[in-house]
Amino acid sequence: MYKVKFYRGDYIERQRQANSDNCVAYVEQHFNSYTSTDDYSVVITGSNASPTSKNWGRWYAAAVAREFNSHVGGDNGIKVGGYDGRGDGNLRYTKMPAILLEPLFASNPHQAELIRSESGQARLARILCESIQRFFQDGGTIGFSVGHKYKTSNPNDRGVALVGGGLEADFAEKVLNKAKELLEAVDAPVEERQVRVMKGDELLWTGTVDADSDVRWDPVRGVLQIEA
Ligand SMILES: [Zn+2]
Repeated sequence: MYKVKFYRGDYIERQRQANSDNCVAYVEQHFNSYTSTDDYSVVITGSNASPTSKNWGRWYAAAVAREFNSHVGGDNGIKVGGYDGRGDGNLRYTKMPAILLEPLFASNPHQAELIRSESGQARLARILCESIQRFFQDGGTIGFSVGHKYKTSNPNDRGVALVGGGLEADFAEKVLNKAKELLEAVDAPVEERQVRVMKGDELLWTGTVDADSDVRWDPVRGVLQIEA
């Protein structure tokens, strides 16, 4: 259902290529960096973002915050037009919904460890894949862009250094590669409401529940109660 294409070159060039390929959605992966205690998840949209871009960005940012027990930044998870304009040019030339992901902080030692781990990358990839399935359920070509890397005008840029080692862009690329694998394995739209049991990045169980069911977790008894 989904075909993922990676775009290289300067950001405007990537967006023009995605436009001419009629991508249905466009994602640029980054990691944030500021202080060692920052831990929020945020998504940047272009200044001209559509409601779909904004809703998609908020959905992703909130899902990451729940997954890693952090919280969302920006305006309910998004920053329209970027930080003082930074990030806007990475997205606003697209003709399709587009988001720039800043899920975790490279400057926060705990989050840097997650970014470096295969499991952390897999969990981010799964959230991205699910967000695309939710917002673009009919499939299509998805454009991916690794932040910083492969720019013609600045070929050595790899973004920020993670506390404890490694560079932003290399891990961003790993996450997108994992997301590509997950997306291209999707063979049908999700047409029922799913409940899943996960252990880290591993899927243990999937079931479907009625769209109107109230689902509650009792942590004391360890019971997931699905009200019929
Ligand atoms: Zn970056």
